[in-house]
Amino acid sequence: MPKVEIITTAILLIWVAIVITLERIIPYRKGLPFFREGFWTDLVLYTFVQSYALKIVIFDYIIQPLDQHFGFSKLHFVTGWPIWVQVLFFVVTHDFYIYWFHRFQHSSAFFWRTHEAHHSGKQVDWLAGSRSHAVEILINQTIEFAPIILLGADPMVVPIKACIDAVWGIWIHCNIDVRSGRLQYFINGPEMHLWHHADHEEVFYANFSTKFAFWDWMFGTAYRPDRKPEKWGLPYAFPKDYFSQHVFSVARFDEEALAKRSVLFRAYHGIRVRLLTRITDRVPALRPLHGWPVPETHTSTIPAHRPGGNFEASPNQPAAAAPSVSSTAAALPR
Ligand SMILES: [Zn+2]
Ligand SMILES: [Zn+2]
Repeated sequence: MPKVEIITTAILLIWVAIVITLERIIPYRKGLPFFREGFWTDLVLYTFVQSYALKIVIFDYIIQPLDQHFGFSKLHFVTGWPIWVQVLFFVVTHDFYIYWFHRFQHSSAFFWRTHEAHHSGKQVDWLAGSRSHAVEILINQTIEFAPIILLGADPMVVPIKACIDAVWGIWIHCNIDVRSGRLQYFINGPEMHLWHHADHEEVFYANFSTKFAFWDWMFGTAYRPDRKPEKWGLPYAFPKDYFSQHVFSVARFDEEALAKRSVLFRAYHGIRVRLLTRITDRVPALRPLHGWPVPETHTSTIPAHRPGGNFEASPNQPAAAAPSVSSTAAALPR
């Protein structure tokens, strides 16, 4: 492994250790288990398997052939810039792109199918950001890394940028009770992004920023109330398994009904639980690996907060607490 990748991996591991420790000490939501629902799917399938496979597809089968064909990198557009300027340039430009693409995903019924998986977790923590549909990653990371290679950036920019993405992704999703004050106008953090994962009508079209919060403030989509969400995740049932989640984005089905109907699906669907049960039956000390259920206090989407403190469902009116947010903020596309 090249030296820079050893350093970025070490930074990432230290960062994970710091964040999971702070999640235990000052949690945003108390009582969330470390091994929460979907933990193993997010860690094994999304973080390791999908990332590894898509990295090969994006770099070896998309960007490299593109560069071989057009030879852009030989023009060395950014090669002479100091590395920190290159990194800053790609961080800011990609973050601007991702704000608009993310906003577009929330209003396009087609592209919502590539983003809903990211919103499906009801227990949001440091690992939750890794849950992104394969097509979403394919689009976003191709658009992220192709310019870095094609404009002739230093080879170190790729691992540095990937490390910044991971560190910031962990930060905005972490279950830490952060009060960043005025910094939240500039640097995005859990204060605003955890709200983005809430099943509250008024944030369906708000808080689209990833790294820099100023996009939301500049383009009128910032939502930062002085309270915490009461309901999380999607307003509709969503499969819990990686492959089912991807099939669901193409064809809607009822996971529970299918499990009742099909022996084959039942056998496949229960693999994860059976595997965990077998391990924890043998070693009872490992029972926390299962996590524990977090009770839900609400069964449906929390309506927008209206003037005078009323919660009143009125799908055709903009949310009063978030006047700058789109007036169509009544329901997410399906
Ligand atoms: Zn979103
Ligand atoms: Zn997120």
